[in-house]
Amino acid sequence: MTLTQVSTALCQINTYQAPRIISTPFALLSILLLGLIAASHPLADVHPTVDLDLLRQLADGVRSDRIGSEDATRALCQVFEDTFTFEVLHGQLNSDLKAKVSAFLSGTPADDIAAKGFDPTPAPLSLHRHPFGGRVPDAHKKHHLFGGHARAKVEETIDTLEHRPIVYEDHERTMIMEVYADIPFLNWQQNVQTRPALTFVPSTVLGLQNLIKAYPHRRIRCSGYRHTRSDFFAEDGDILVSFVSLHYVASVLPEMISMFSDRINEAELSGELRSVQTFPPRAGQPDTQRVRVGVAVTPEELREWAIADGWSLPVDVTADEVTTGGIVGSMCHGSGFAHKSINDYIRSVEYVDVNGVVQSITDAKELHAALGCFGLMGIITHITYEVKKMTFAVMQPRKVKTMLAVPPPDPSHVPEALFVETSPDELQEAIVDFERRAAQDHYTEWSWFSYQSDVLVNTWSTVADSEGEEDYTTPTQTFLQWIAA
Ligand SMILES: Cc1cc2nc3c(=O)[nH]c(=O)nc-3n(C[C@H](O)[C@H](O)[C@H](O)COP(=O)(O)OP(=O)(O)OC[C@H]3O[C@@H](n4cnc5c(N)ncnc54)[C@H](O)[C@@H]3O)c2cc1C
Repeated sequence: MTLTQVSTALCQINTYQAPRIISTPFALLSILLLGLIAASHPLADVHPTVDLDLLRQLADGVRSDRIGSEDATRALCQVFEDTFTFEVLHGQLNSDLKAKVSAFLSGTPADDIAAKGFDPTPAPLSLHRHPFGGRVPDAHKKHHLFGGHARAKVEETIDTLEHRPIVYEDHERTMIMEVYADIPFLNWQQNVQTRPALTFVPSTVLGLQNLIKAYPHRRIRCSGYRHTRSDFFAEDGDILVSFVSLHYVASVLPEMISMFSDRINEAELSGELRSVQTFPPRAGQPDTQRVRVGVAVTPEELREWAIADGWSLPVDVTADEVTTGGIVGSMCHGSGFAHKSINDYIRSVEYVDVNGVVQSITDAKELHAALGCFGLMGIITHITYEVKKMTFAVMQPRKVKTMLAVPPPDPSHVPEALFVETSPDELQEAIVDFERRAAQDHYTEWSWFSYQSDVLVNTWSTVADSEGEEDYTTPTQTFLQWIAA
């Protein structure tokens, strides 16, 4: 959702239909920060190809709310248009996208560009944001071995040349689990940096069992997209199990890999840990359904399943680059006063225990303990959600003066920059509206960005009727957010 489009007409949007991608406010925030830097440093000597005058004007425009997000995004690109980096990144686009970016920079409205069709590929920058600066170190790939003689030869070669352990992922011993020796671990925020002795990337439950049995005395921890800030991953010398291919794991900034399912499929993870399996409907319960989900599944993949099948979780995390295992492991939440944590919608958890044995928990009391274990109970392989019939969001995001969006009981406490003159009636009306949204709406979100006088109020209720349904986001919004990224 872009800032200029917050006052859209009332529309009904499928609650699971919105691809969550990098939002344009991030671009606006970048502009403000860059503007501050440009104002206080003599950058012209160091960066002669950056249009610093335009950057300063842009920062002023954003700060004083005089420029819409489409114009701001265009101007931000123009600031860097003559730099070598821009030229390189632009050069990496296919001819269609190159033409679209050039047209946008020359002033063609995003609406006109998107109307001709827009097939996004990952923004070039996002391809360079994995922990190894564009190169993933050599690893055992998922070796497929055929025949006794060939197998013995490959095993011997791997063992003597690579000094890396062999863990089989299938009963026939034809698949070897991908493994990396002594490579750094970095979480997304870069506040957790460790060096596990071995990093495995599994595909099967049997592979996980074999792995645990092979290392009975070693500490084994898991990771998904590494989006957790807290330090509860593998430590130095531990064994790490990554449920995201190291080629695609996010490390520095938000990236959009999870939007591109073909890229996800390219990743070497596949099969049972990435499966979504719907159970047959249960008698007498037409409005709920159970779905078994592998731990490597992302919210985007579950969203695709939900749209196809007409079921959805009532809550979800805002980020796309997370795994089901990560959501369960850190007890994630969605939004809305009436909702519980995401784990509260889980009816069964399957995991490999410390002895390498597959276990499953379905008892409601035991589930409470199992689902609050911060990944310490064992390696979770699948969970079963209880989902509800798909509904539709009645959505009308608005930009509201901060003091009226989240009205204070006592206006004298409001900082001067955010203070607006209001009558007691107006303030009371804002309080009633705020309380109703907070207490009753299905989804509630108030977003405020530094130096902004307004708050983006995005709270909505749901209806079962799909009449008037519209897709969200629109192609224009997707184009703008892609180019901002
Ligand atoms: C931009 C952003 C927005 C966010 N929005 C929300 C939000 O709206 N709501 C919310 O609740 N959180 C939110 N978070 C937090 C995020 O959802 C959690 O940190 C989530 O755990 C990340 O998933 P991941 O795949 O990156 O897991 P990781 O961070 O890689 O792992 C999380 C934990 O789970 C454990 N784990 C992972 N897989 C398994 C497994 N198979 N078995 C056992 N343990 C396992 C790991 O060992 C680790 O301890 C957000 C984070 C970011 C960066």
